[in-house]
Amino acid sequence: MFDAPIETLRVDTYRIPTERPEQDGTLRWDATEMVVVRIGAGAREGLGYSYTSARPAAMLIEDKLAPIVQGSSPFNTGAIWARMNDSVRNLGRPGLAMMAIAAVDQALWDLKARLLQLPLPRLWGQLRDSVPVYGSGGFINQTDPELIEQVRGWVELELSAIKIKIGNHRRESLRRAELVRDHAANATLMVDLNGACGPRDALGMAGELAELGVAWMEEPVSSDDLGGMAWLRDRVPGDLALAAGEYGWGVDYFERMLRSSAVDVLQADATRCGYTGFLQAATLCEAANVPISAHCAPAVHAPICTAVPQLLHLEHFHDHVRLESMLFDSGTVLRRGELWPDPQQPGHGLAFRDADAERFRL
Ligand SMILES: [Mg+2]
Repeated sequence: MFDAPIETLRVDTYRIPTERPEQDGTLRWDATEMVVVRIGAGAREGLGYSYTSARPAAMLIEDKLAPIVQGSSPFNTGAIWARMNDSVRNLGRPGLAMMAIAAVDQALWDLKARLLQLPLPRLWGQLRDSVPVYGSGGFINQTDPELIEQVRGWVELELSAIKIKIGNHRRESLRRAELVRDHAANATLMVDLNGACGPRDALGMAGELAELGVAWMEEPVSSDDLGGMAWLRDRVPGDLALAAGEYGWGVDYFERMLRSSAVDVLQADATRCGYTGFLQAATLCEAANVPISAHCAPAVHAPICTAVPQLLHLEHFHDHVRLESMLFDSGTVLRRGELWPDPQQPGHGLAFRDADAERFRL
């Protein structure tokens, strides 16, 4: 069985409407698209997914990646990773191509672990049994009662930190941060600007946010502006951590961000860099002595977060929590503010509920 090459690769695409339109500092959306990959060998199947423009990603997987994966050994995740990266050289690796690769890479790791009948954390070398999560949402188009209701929900789940979106409107941003603080007095307060400001405007807001007790400022400027991030990091109050990295497509991206002294905490997202890229980011963080925080997609991140050094926490993002609980069965439980992956389930332990997903199929 262990010598069986990969036989099947299946791709499905879905579009799941949000409960209501959601908005951050630079973008507004009313649905989340998802590409789901299943790879089979030796009567086992591995599962991976990414939140991306699903149909173009599916075409890329079918045209470019499937011929590499099919016929390969399911244990050669490194060789397949290298060949997939090479195959998109002329398309440009960052963005859509890497999200396609990320979904396939997750499925390959899951398949390998299921063939070995091992939970993925044990395959990688487990460091901890559970993973702290923080509540994330607080969209800037929510009404105050909606925001308060969401925050109260996270407090009931005993989440120790809470993150809301803010924009470049200084007074409104400070008002909403204060409102959240008043309803979650014991939680660490975090804000995400999604690159809404320039460095000088962000600096102006940083001092006042820190005075309110905000401890985390995410992408105050575009994460592509490493110079701007580093300039800001030199000047914000010392107890305000700057974070970015969710658009990290590979080891070179994470290395540049760390080398630029742009962040106090590096974020990484396995739906954009694969499990392979996430492991690489965590190793770089260990070398740089910088904490790592997992971005969104909690279902896919819970297992890997038990197995990487320097882990700070994992993002319990409202839209993905809702969607993943609708579409996946999982042995992972949320208890006392932490996610506890099932230590018995092989792979990442996720099973896709095809029947429930059917109405969202593209
Ligand atoms: Mg963010």
